[in-house]
Amino acid sequence: MTFQYAPAPESTAIVNINSSNDLFINGEFTPGHGTPFKTINPATEEVLAEIAQANEEDVNAAVMAARKAYDKTWSKMSGRDRGKYLFRIARLIQERSRELAVLETLDNGKPIRESRDVDVPIAAAHFFYHAGWADKLEFAGYGTYPRPLGVVAQVIPWNFPLLMLAWKIAPALATGNTVVLKPAETTSLTALLFAEICQQADLPPGVVNIITGAGETGRMLVEHPDVNKVAFTGSTAVGQAIQRQIAGTNKRLTLELGGKAANIVFDDAPIDQAVEGIVNGIFFNQGHVCCAGSRLLLQESIAEQTIESLKRRLQTLRLGDPLDKNTDIGAINSREQLNRIIDLTKSGEDEGAQRWSPDCVIPERGFWFAPTVFTNVTQAHRIAREEIFGPVLSVLTFRTPDEAIEKANNTPYGLSAGIWTEKGSRILAMANKVRAGVVWANTFNRFDPASPFGGYKESGFGREGGVQGLGAYLTSEESS
Ligand code: NAD
Repeated sequence: MTFQYAPAPESTAIVNINSSNDLFINGEFTPGHGTPFKTINPATEEVLAEIAQANEEDVNAAVMAARKAYDKTWSKMSGRDRGKYLFRIARLIQERSRELAVLETLDNGKPIRESRDVDVPIAAAHFFYHAGWADKLEFAGYGTYPRPLGVVAQVIPWNFPLLMLAWKIAPALATGNTVVLKPAETTSLTALLFAEICQQADLPPGVVNIITGAGETGRMLVEHPDVNKVAFTGSTAVGQAIQRQIAGTNKRLTLELGGKAANIVFDDAPIDQAVEGIVNGIFFNQGHVCCAGSRLLLQESIAEQTIESLKRRLQTLRLGDPLDKNTDIGAINSREQLNRIIDLTKSGEDEGAQRWSPDCVIPERGFWFAPTVFTNVTQAHRIAREEIFGPVLSVLTFRTPDEAIEKANNTPYGLSAGIWTEKGSRILAMANKVRAGVVWANTFNRFDPASPFGGYKESGFGREGGVQGLGAYLTSEESS
């Protein structure tokens, strides 16, 4: 039986949401010239605020501000001084962490426990880590005089709005580039609060510009002729479109795209620990995680027992008010995403997989999806091939390590994988053969700014984080 907790809602009093929000260009909040749009709280469907839409004129102004700041101040500043600004930003993120966490939860729908304990602290950690690199770039292995690229266009998705912003902006600034960033249209609010933090940190005007808007704004930004590098995180389809759009230009590009990770559990794994890892792998952030362990590969001899333990564990998850500190599963970020999940899970049933969800009460308003497990899944099923990006797990089985590798690699994606076994030698052998940018052993969904993250195949190219991530923002060429 599930132990019942009294509700423990986090107060929203700390957050002050402007009813209408401007763009952040050249250090100032500036009205946009496109048609504004609304951002809603996906847990209640209530409108939170109106957001400006940047049109071509605004994109031009933002890129021009970034160019001027690059030429006049940021690229000329010593690494030591740049580092001071990054440290200042990191500390301000920590100081305003509660505000950022509550705002992220309101706008995104993720549980406050996750925004408070994962998104915001790791965002601060990224700025601290890269602040440390700013004056040591000549020791990073990118030549004696590594140089910045110039103006960077950055476009990010809605699943980790502040965290993805940090992954993008921290390395770009540490290496001496200036930035125009566009958040996803459903989650602009923490990026705009970050703009306030830039003002508070006295960051020179134009070094960071935040322009809000939909895909069209993103397209204009990445296509802008005065942009030197594009860094994109989002779906594979849009990543491919961007690659086509900028083909033939000399813009540098990194793409962090979708995934369909295998979480592989061997019969010698500590099952209880593995069950926690499976739950964290796919139900963390409602499964809106590019590297989610969405395909569970169980060794046949332990499959039944593990599925039973997993179902028992899932009965204890709490779905509901994301602001409640007891909540494990929050709201789905948008109706559009909810419809995509419903469509794909329906295909799972139609194609013959067996569907199971724990009993849970779905709130009347808002966008919700109960944690779902599919068994009897074959590799041909859509739910085993396509990224669902929701709290849905597809379970497959295997007999031998070779079969596990074959199944794990039978995907167009290659972002992450998990291996659960007691044997160190098996971990190393599997990690060598699994075609995934990140491989976790006896854990899942662990992130650290010192550790590079990125994919193979249709999961994209380039790495973010670690010394490898710096390379995406540096050149050894004299001309740039
Ligand atoms: P999306 O591709 O629909 O949108 C991402 C961003 O691109 C948004 O800001 C959007 O406005 C913008 N955009 C849309 N069309 C554009 C265009 N033609 N040109 C430029 N920008 C455009 O993705 P989403 O639904 O917001 O996010 C979910 C996807 O992101 C999933 O596939 C997920 O796997 C992926 N993701 C990947 C990583 C990673 O590190 N690999 C991390 C998080 C999310």
